[in-house]
Amino acid sequence: IKSLTKHFVSKKGFFGQEKVVRAVDGVDLTIYPGETVSIVGESGCGKSTTGRCILRLIEPTAGEVFFEGRDICKLSPADLRGVRRDMQLVFQDPFASLNPRKTVGRILEDPLIVHGIGTAQERQKRVEEIIEIVGLSKQHLSRFPHEFSGGQRQRIGIARALILRPKLIVADEPVSALDVSIQAQILNLMQDLQKEFQLTYLFISHDLSVVRHISDRVAVMYLGRVVEVADKESLYRNPTHPYTQALLSAVPVPDPKRELQRIILEGDLPSPSNPPAGCTFHPRCRSCMDVCRSEIPLLRQKEEGHWVSCHLE
Ligand code: SF4
Ligand code: MG
Repeated sequence: IKSLTKHFVSKKGFFGQEKVVRAVDGVDLTIYPGETVSIVGESGCGKSTTGRCILRLIEPTAGEVFFEGRDICKLSPADLRGVRRDMQLVFQDPFASLNPRKTVGRILEDPLIVHGIGTAQERQKRVEEIIEIVGLSKQHLSRFPHEFSGGQRQRIGIARALILRPKLIVADEPVSALDVSIQAQILNLMQDLQKEFQLTYLFISHDLSVVRHISDRVAVMYLGRVVEVADKESLYRNPTHPYTQALLSAVPVPDPKRELQRIILEGDLPSPSNPPAGCTFHPRCRSCMDVCRSEIPLLRQKEEGHWVSCHLE
């Protein structure tokens, strides 16, 4: 993912003047096959939009997304269809994303029909397989979404994403709507499925405990940009960007010796339609220097695989 950018134009002003919302503002990120990369950040930081741009469910304003060597931003609708099979989305709210008037069997068969896969009999067989793979049973196929618990619905959402045998799954807050006890079940299921089907995950979350559980590498986003990216151990052991430090300081740490002093972030997340100049974190940063107010810090490698965009580094 190179310089991925999504600017929304909204006519919001008092006189109808255009306002540009810089939802995603030049994201660079590499995701290797078979790994789980998480994007973490507060709501409104652009993480969901980034996920959707990567799948081209939202058209990026600029940038490149290479998937197996091809820039999917340049693909025609017909070619994109082929790639879509390989890249699926799991939603935060499985209830809102499951059609209430369709049976689970039909919900799971739909993607196969859309992609013209198999005969009716073959599709039925695949649907019956997939429902068991996610821990439900054939008896559930004739039921409707409202007959299931939140956790079961997310299993159905995962089955629907999995039925096309994708390579990449973008999971946007897949457990945020669930009780904590159910969250662990779904995360464990996702990890088992990853091993079984060699899946690559882009996992989007605001929850650092969940991210710690599931990720190999973590990218921290702030106001449409990646401010720090590192493998999980390195990031949690040695958070370097002041924003990452503040985020992590709010999470209970299992090892009391490593406990970070709680850092309270001053002020609100600025509006992405009017981001601060220079380092966009500067109005909230305790280490802000003069240079921070005018110059955008580049993402630089501070040690092997650990990248930070901060003038302190
Ligand atoms: Fe803080 Fe400056 Fe680093 Fe931004 S660049 S995070 S303002 S020290
Ligand atoms: Mg979101």
